[in-house]
Amino acid sequence: MVEEQLAARGIGDPAVLRVMGALPRERFLPPEMEENAYDDTALPIGHGQTISQPWIVARMTEVLDLPGWAVRHPGRPVAVLDVGTGSGYQAAVLAAIGARVTSIERDPELAERAARTLASLGLSVRSVVGDGSLGYPPDAPYAGIVVAAAGPAIPPPLVEQLAPGGRLVLPVGPPGYQELTVAWREDGELRTRTLGGCTFVPLVGRHGTDPGREG
Ligand code: SAH
Repeated sequence: MVEEQLAARGIGDPAVLRVMGALPRERFLPPEMEENAYDDTALPIGHGQTISQPWIVARMTEVLDLPGWAVRHPGRPVAVLDVGTGSGYQAAVLAAIGARVTSIERDPELAERAARTLASLGLSVRSVVGDGSLGYPPDAPYAGIVVAAAGPAIPPPLVEQLAPGGRLVLPVGPPGYQELTVAWREDGELRTRTLGGCTFVPLVGRHGTDPGREG
């Protein structure tokens, strides 16, 4: 997976490659999906949700440039917010590269299952149940925020909860097709850059795709 799907397709961050090579991805999947754990796709994890494709997880992690932030802010914890815990795999990658991770999920059962998986691997992640489109102010500001569900626009609370020099990465667009987008603040303004097309499940919440929808 690391060589063929990640390194050969432009993932260069050595910590990301090392950690994704070492983490047992099958532990984040329902038993019937385990044999597909290293496939080059997103996979169903139940409750209509998915674990993201490995390349997407790697790209979103790399683009946060947490090593760069750590160098510019010596001695500060590298706090990261993971919105849409799902299986917990993205949170695991972030924790394993040394970030102090808060992960928020709206579905209590998925959140609990992910928290158990993370704990069983000895990974320390703060698991929160709630609407991640509002961010999670108690642990802000964040050096990085990664969102694994798609809404029509960048949720303002997430921008507000970014630390100076921090980056936000998220899919932006309608259901079915989004642009993977990186956002950061520069001279008091929000700047963005797009990384290409992608497809994520909907971000359901106050600043999400369909606030009224359940499930
Ligand atoms: N990062 C996950 C991907 C999970 S898919 C992984 O590595 O497995 C996206 C998740 O976002 C789903 O579990 C869905 O329930 C959750 N989600 C959708 N809208 C949300 C919201 N407003 N707040 C928190 N979680 C949300």
